[in-house]
Amino acid sequence: TSFSEICFASQALADNIKRCKYLKPTPIQRYAIPVAMAGRDLMACAQTGSGKTAAFCFPIISGILMANQKNKICGNPRSMACPLALILAPTRELSCQIHEEAKKFSHQTGVKIVVAYGGAPIFQQLRNLENGVDVLVATPGRLVDMIERGRVSLKNVKYLALDEADRMLDMGFEPQVRRIVQQMEMPPPCARQTLLFSATFPTEIQRLASDFLSNHIFLAA
Ligand code: AMP
Repeated sequence: TSFSEICFASQALADNIKRCKYLKPTPIQRYAIPVAMAGRDLMACAQTGSGKTAAFCFPIISGILMANQKNKICGNPRSMACPLALILAPTRELSCQIHEEAKKFSHQTGVKIVVAYGGAPIFQQLRNLENGVDVLVATPGRLVDMIERGRVSLKNVKYLALDEADRMLDMGFEPQVRRIVQQMEMPPPCARQTLLFSATFPTEIQRLASDFLSNHIFLAA
C-alpha cells in the first residue's frame, strides 16, 4: 500500500504528505487511516515512533476538508473558540510535537491548528485561539482551564483523538479527560468520532474505551 492508494480529500494534503517524505505508510498508518476515514471509532495500540501522529492527523484533516467545515462560526462570542477537532496529549512536549507535525500536514489547506499546554503563560495561547481554530491540540489541565474561562467550547467537536491515553491516566488526568469529553455536545454514542491511541491496555484504558468509543475497531499493528 502507498499513500496515493489511500484517497485523501485534498490534493494539498496529498502534496504535504509527499513533502514530508512520507512515501510508504507505517503499519499503524496502513490499518488505522482507512478505518478512521470510513468514520469508525478506533482503539489502536501504538508505541512512540510508530507513526501514530499521522495515523490520527490525516483522517482528521481530510475529514474537515471533505465536509468543508473549516473555520466554521459557532454563534458564540468571537472570544470563544469552537474547534472541530480536539487532540489530547499528556505533556507539553508531545502536544508541541503533534502541533508541529499537524501544521506541516495542513500547510495550504486552510485548516488551522492551535496548541495549548500547561506550564506556560495562558495569555498568548488564548490570543492564538482568537485567530480561529479548526484543530486544537491540548493537554487536559490547560484545556479545562480554558473551558472554565469561557474561552473554548467543545460543542462543535466532530473528531476527538486521545494520544498516549495510558500516560494521561498515569499522570492523573482521568478526571480532566472525563470532564472534557462531557463537554462535547452529545454524550456517547453520538456523531463524534473518537480515536484512542495507547501503548498499553490496562483495565482503566479499557474502561475509558468503553465509555468514550462507540462500536469501535481494535487495532494492534
Ligand atoms: P510518530 O510515531 O508519529 O511520532 O512518528 C515518528 C517519526 O516518524 C516522526 O519523525 C515522523 O515524521 C516519522 N514518520 C511517521 N510516519 C512516517 C512515514 N510513513 N514515512 C516516513 N516517516 C514517517
